[in-house]
Amino acid sequence: MRSVAEHQQVIAEMIRPRKPVQIPLAQTLGLVLAEDIVAPLSLPVFDNSAMDGYAVLAEDTAAATPEQPIVLPVAEDIPAGRTDQLTLQPGTAHRIMTGAPMPAGATAVVPVEATDGGMTEVQIREPAAAGKHVRPTGGDVTAGTTVLRAGAAVTPASLGLVAALGLPDLPVIPRQRVLVISTGTELVTSGTPLQPGQIYESNAVMLAAAVREAGAEVVATATAGDDVGEFTAILDRYAGQADLIITSGGVSAGAYEVVKDAFGRDGDQGVQFVKVAMQPGMPQGVGRVGGTPIVTLPGNPVSALVSFEVFIRPALRAAMGLPDPHRPHHSAVLTEAVTSPRGKRQFRRAVLDPATNQVSSYGPPASHHLRWLASANGLLDIPEDVVGVPAGTEVQVWDLR
Ligand code: AMP
Ligand code: MG
Repeated sequence: MRSVAEHQQVIAEMIRPRKPVQIPLAQTLGLVLAEDIVAPLSLPVFDNSAMDGYAVLAEDTAAATPEQPIVLPVAEDIPAGRTDQLTLQPGTAHRIMTGAPMPAGATAVVPVEATDGGMTEVQIREPAAAGKHVRPTGGDVTAGTTVLRAGAAVTPASLGLVAALGLPDLPVIPRQRVLVISTGTELVTSGTPLQPGQIYESNAVMLAAAVREAGAEVVATATAGDDVGEFTAILDRYAGQADLIITSGGVSAGAYEVVKDAFGRDGDQGVQFVKVAMQPGMPQGVGRVGGTPIVTLPGNPVSALVSFEVFIRPALRAAMGLPDPHRPHHSAVLTEAVTSPRGKRQFRRAVLDPATNQVSSYGPPASHHLRWLASANGLLDIPEDVVGVPAGTEVQVWDLR
């Protein structure tokens, strides 16, 4: 049997980053920069007022006091967005608004609160030092400075910065494009009444959501019955658009294993079927279809999602250059004893209480218990060689929150 670590490595090596692309800002949130970003201009772009008030020559206000205000004639208003360059005549003031360009020759802004707010002449009650309430050109960013580094994930704040610099798009490592295929003749989509022996399909929407949560995008989700022709028709239609194909079901030891049947059981058709020493999720497959990587997961919903967490999520995120491809791991104190199969790494659904740093195993280890999975916030990671863990032991937990 292959270890979890070995299978993780095979998948991580197969899922490769896409070529960097230049895309509009609005589509880049969460993606990773492929290049350093250098400021094409300075911020602020021009000297401007930090306050609503009066642009003045600082010296003209030196003698101002509340009892003996200075009185200056008021020239034209300068609202934000005024594009002509005005020049201050010494001994006068311009009413100016926050963000409006300073007139040439003005050296300070007196806030409106320190004046009588006059329109034709203004009484100034406080002196303003040179530079006061002026936001100087380049005070934030100097043109030519590297403002963001390659390898950093795009955040709302970094988008604000590059938008302010006038950049329409960013060079990023694009999202991985993933095709999700469910298999099973018993599967029916919601809205159709169930016949005896049928169940509602649940892996496609779940795995597609997990793909998106990992930061990747979904090319399509599709369901095939246990029919090789139906399954390969889906591959023919979508595989060429995908960077990764994920299937669920049809890889166990029984008959009617459509994924195994489609690729041949001996690995000669590019997909290798292996047993991985883990619970849940022992039957796994990995390979390529016409050059596109494929990971074939077992069909039980818990096995499928846990396998996605263990093998695919970190590999997808690493291929997108994300700085934190893995879930955070914590050690926490187990509240009650659990058992674990000898020779298999067990991933139990768990509830982690960060306030007490305690963790409880949640529900039975069986791989069809969706309800437990839905309410868990962690995965207990119990090593291969451990067969039982007493209550009170420090254990490793993957934090799914
Ligand atoms: P398989 O791996 O195909 O043998 O499926 C194992 C179990 O998982 C069976 O009980 C299937 O009915 C169930 N299963 C497989 N695929 C899905 C799916 N997409 N949605 C819900 N249950 C599934
Ligand atoms: Mg099946």
